[in-house]
Amino acid sequence: MKKFKSDCGYIVYETTPRECIEITNGFGICDMCAKTDKVIYLVPVLNHAFCQKCYDDWNGRAIFYEDDLWFEEFYARIWEDMAKRKKIDLVEIR
Ligand SMILES: [Zn+2]
Repeated sequence: MKKFKSDCGYIVYETTPRECIEITNGFGICDMCAKTDKVIYLVPVLNHAFCQKCYDDWNGRAIFYEDDLWFEEFYARIWEDMAKRKKIDLVEIR
């Protein structure tokens, strides 16, 4: 999976549906529209998985709040620990 920052500065993980399932124990589908996609974006500050379309929608209007960083860190740590346990490589980009 890949790690990068959204346009406003939040952490985002780009995963395959399979990686998403292993990392979150979820379903590998978008939390907004319930569809799956080739790529699933995990956004720890929201505890949300997005398909490409819903990620693009959110990315275009998200506003960065420093007060939310404790929540982002909470899920980022859980998901990165889970990725490590499942031997999913984490590559930081951008
Ligand atoms: Zn969606």
